[in-house]
Amino acid sequence: MPLCPVCGRETSVTIRGLCPSCFFKEYSALSFKNELKVCPTCGRIYVGRWEEFSLPKILSWVRRHLKVHPDIDVAQLNLSIKEEEDHFLVYASLQGRGFQHTETLKLKKKYEQCPYCARRYGGYYEAVIQLRGNRWRELYRKVLNVIEREKDPKAFITGEKQVKGGIDIYIGSKKVADRVGKRFKSLADEVKFSFSHVGEKDGKPITRKYVMIRLD
Ligand SMILES: [Zn+2]
Ligand SMILES: [Zn+2]
Repeated sequence: MPLCPVCGRETSVTIRGLCPSCFFKEYSALSFKNELKVCPTCGRIYVGRWEEFSLPKILSWVRRHLKVHPDIDVAQLNLSIKEEEDHFLVYASLQGRGFQHTETLKLKKKYEQCPYCARRYGGYYEAVIQLRGNRWRELYRKVLNVIEREKDPKAFITGEKQVKGGIDIYIGSKKVADRVGKRFKSLADEVKFSFSHVGEKDGKPITRKYVMIRLD
């Protein structure tokens, strides 16, 4: 049986000429970029795209991008994760022929505002829901409830303006404004959809959607 040149012990398995235990002292088995973008405002994480915070999602992202040292042959790799205040700890346990090894990776949180929050707090809006009629206040409460329950990350309100005979609600998503309008069709006296051109970007027109809902 060959002897490990570092510790002198007999070893049936060598990696780069060393026994597994000396190898793992010398080299790291795993490499990974050591940060994860986290939105400080809403907590979303960037795992190839911005998603709702979830530890399993972070783990599968780590698994997809993790690099194993090319000289070791891993038969089984188990990962688990723990969140700390400003970082995550990823515990990896590797198993292969003649070795078993555990390693901990530190994944730093890199705070960066996600595009949804950047828009939300930048006064961005795509649509205006205009509530009109004698009973607009009644509509107002119901409309806010509907928007709050929306899962669309752009279903945020960036502003409100009380106008003569009602209120204008500025909202981040045309689609959501549309859905709100359709939803109130049977309940309201009138629902009207329109839009206006507000400019151009990369040769494409930018439009703003208006949804007027009237209840008398
Ligand atoms: Zn050794
Ligand atoms: Zn965010």
